[in-house]
Amino acid sequence: MSRVFNFSAGPAVLPEEVLRTAQAELLEYKNSGMSVMEMSHRSKDFEDILDQAESDLRTLMNIPDNYKVLFLQGGGCTQFAMIPMNLMKNKSADYIITGNWSKKAAQEAEIFGIVNKIASSEDKNFSYVPDLSDLNISENADYVYICQNETIHGTTIRKLPNTKGKILVADLSSMFLSEPVDVSKYGVLWGGVQKNVGPAGVTIVIIREDLIYDDVLPFTPTMLKYKTHSDNKSLYNTPPCFNIYVCGLVFKWLLKLGGTEAMKKINEEKAKILYDFLDSSKIFHGTVEKKDRSFMNIPFVTGNKELDAEFINAATNAGLKNLKGHRTVGGMRASLYNAMPVEGVKALVEFMADFEKGHI
Ligand SMILES: *Cc1c(COP(=O)(O)O)cnc(C)c1O
Repeated sequence: MSRVFNFSAGPAVLPEEVLRTAQAELLEYKNSGMSVMEMSHRSKDFEDILDQAESDLRTLMNIPDNYKVLFLQGGGCTQFAMIPMNLMKNKSADYIITGNWSKKAAQEAEIFGIVNKIASSEDKNFSYVPDLSDLNISENADYVYICQNETIHGTTIRKLPNTKGKILVADLSSMFLSEPVDVSKYGVLWGGVQKNVGPAGVTIVIIREDLIYDDVLPFTPTMLKYKTHSDNKSLYNTPPCFNIYVCGLVFKWLLKLGGTEAMKKINEEKAKILYDFLDSSKIFHGTVEKKDRSFMNIPFVTGNKELDAEFINAATNAGLKNLKGHRTVGGMRASLYNAMPVEGVKALVEFMADFEKGHI
């Protein structure tokens, strides 16, 4: 067996320790005589797994009691529809467009109502975060929407927008549990777990209780109402049991490491190693304004497509995998999620330095 350094943006690297536990428990979970994959979602064993996962997540994120935690399916893209379907009472919402994922969310919301794009960084290919301190918030907006970490473009919103009293809805998919967040500042925050938390197939939604409405938009299917899942503690229908179990193992791993505060320090250290190198490199450079750089997803280019391709190829052969950037940005992207060890970043930077020596 030989595990590589996997810089994929998602599905992405998981902690080896978690995979080993899942492996050890694969044939028989505790004394159940069966795998979690084979269990009824109504069994005591699975109920305990779900309860424990929720309780550990509440500890990790310090989630206030008046927020519900929902384990849903359909990926991030389903949230792009669920949010307007459940929250667009006035059929109007304000969207801040800082990259591919907020743009997609806005496009989907347009199916359901009026979408006001109150800020955008598209003029510079989403390479920065606009000033969000004094926006033209619409009077009848039902919420203000952000994608706090743009996975493809590599920006992070460090200072939340001034929503002037409106509810803030945020997609944290690619920074979920990477650093502490103050949940009470959000009405809804959510993340698809395949970036930083677990295997694809689970989306975690954290929603303030008073935003779980009965009177959602007409024609909203039962499965797409937050209320359905809240009333049934995420067990309205069969949830992705095994994937939730693995998320639970990741929560335990994080707690053992010291939680999101400790994780943030490690993530900052890892990102700094790569950014410092990029800032001093003669052939590689980052694509994002310094103040808005993500600690999770780091795009970089040489400025020469053939050289980019040569680098990606050489890196792949050296066991540094999935460094190809998204087609909309080009070049390279290194995703340094929680489970990427610092050794992986050091190996990448060392490899880049060697490559550079051979190309100047
Ligand atoms: C990956 C991603 C999504 C889409 O998630 P799917 O599960 O593929 O639908 C949405 N938002 C962000 C920030 C992402 O990184």
